[in-house]
Amino acid sequence: MSQVMPGDTIASIEEYEAGSNTFDDGDMIRSTVVGHTSIDASNHVANILRQKKTGVPEPGDIVIGTVAAVMSMMFAVSIQYVNGKRTLSNVECICSTRHIRRKNMALVNDIVMLRIESHLNGTIHAVMDEHSLGVLQTKCVKCGGSVVPVRDVIKCVECSWIDERVLSSKFGTSDFLTFDN
Ligand SMILES: [Zn+2]
Repeated sequence: MSQVMPGDTIASIEEYEAGSNTFDDGDMIRSTVVGHTSIDASNHVANILRQKKTGVPEPGDIVIGTVAAVMSMMFAVSIQYVNGKRTLSNVECICSTRHIRRKNMALVNDIVMLRIESHLNGTIHAVMDEHSLGVLQTKCVKCGGSVVPVRDVIKCVECSWIDERVLSSKFGTSDFLTFDN
């Protein structure tokens, strides 16, 4: 099935009637939405099936993204993967850190794995309430060096700086994903 855009011609009004998500311009039936053509041949109706918005995660989806901003009670993440699939839609979600008693959960540019909890007032809310959720990749804030987990903190292998993060149980094992810088 080929994709149609708003305004695209679907069929002639001599052959079909305008169905869902279409209009008739007096000559041709055209789409009003982005979607795919669905011709109901027995009733001679041309419909457009609206394309599901891609890249917008739904509650329960696991997302991976880059921390874009850190605020006092939450951080914002620019989502790059939804359930393991790359998305280029630049969707952001926020993760509340109110209930986590740590100084640093995640810092800007960390790669984190989160679970989408809800959509509320146009904002996508995510949580990290499982062991697999949390920081996947991070660097030393002092020197940019690599860090290793040491008990419940992380330690820089270059300058020995010790810092806090909420680490995913998959920390450091995310080689299966490639991130574009
Ligand atoms: Zn360092």
